[in-house]
Amino acid sequence: MSAGAPLEPDPGDLLGPGDPPPFAIVNPDGRGRALLIADHAGRAIPRRLGRLGLDEAALARHIAWDIGIEATTRGLSALLDAPAAIAGYSRLVIDCNRRLDDPTSIAQVSDSVEVPGNRRLSAAQRQARAAACFHPYHRAIEDLVAARRGAGRPTALISMHSFTPTIDGVARPWHAGVLWHRDGRLPRPLLAALCAERDLVVGDNQPYSGRDERGFSIQAHGERHGLPHVLIELRQDQIDTPEGAAGWAARLARLLGPILADGTLYEAARS
Ligand SMILES: [Zn+2]
Repeated sequence: MSAGAPLEPDPGDLLGPGDPPPFAIVNPDGRGRALLIADHAGRAIPRRLGRLGLDEAALARHIAWDIGIEATTRGLSALLDAPAAIAGYSRLVIDCNRRLDDPTSIAQVSDSVEVPGNRRLSAAQRQARAAACFHPYHRAIEDLVAARRGAGRPTALISMHSFTPTIDGVARPWHAGVLWHRDGRLPRPLLAALCAERDLVVGDNQPYSGRDERGFSIQAHGERHGLPHVLIELRQDQIDTPEGAAGWAARLARLLGPILADGTLYEAARS
């Protein structure tokens, strides 16, 4: 920024005393073969942003966070002995799974709810959110990937998300979805294992598709480093209680265990 630029808020000023950290790292030295990330786990809003003009009821809804995914991810982290990076701030502050130039990086509308605090932001305001919430989280994931490479630990990147059971009045039948694009190393055996569970309706690139290339984290931390990777979506009514989250953590640990133990998983992907 040039010396003549107008005074703008220091990006570091967005988070103040009383604001939680932008992310948590659980089990950083875990020896398991997975690295878990949860881009939408948090629902904190920096105090300086008020509530983005929303009431508490709106901020408790799926538009603000992936309900249930933090508890599920923490449970899975413990069972797989895997490190987990858990984002702390609401996706409405800035979406950690979108490129910064994506129009939905800082959403002005989510599931028909307008977000007044996200209207007409200056470049400096957008940068302040990225500096406070987005960059620290992604740097922490890169540090974990680098540390595991340095230690010679095979690593599969697993991105944990949850989705609302109903959208636009339409019920979604899937209990879980597996989102993927070019690299089938991890998604294919995981889909097979989930489909073998007789009580589940499983989405292959449902309720969202990994092929639309909107997601940021998988590309940035998985594809770019050649790590086997997958994005798992769990329906929120499956994991919105402690028992539900623990049940899904246990199920995923049971299904992922043999897949992650297979050394061929980490061989370079064929295009
Ligand atoms: Zn999500």
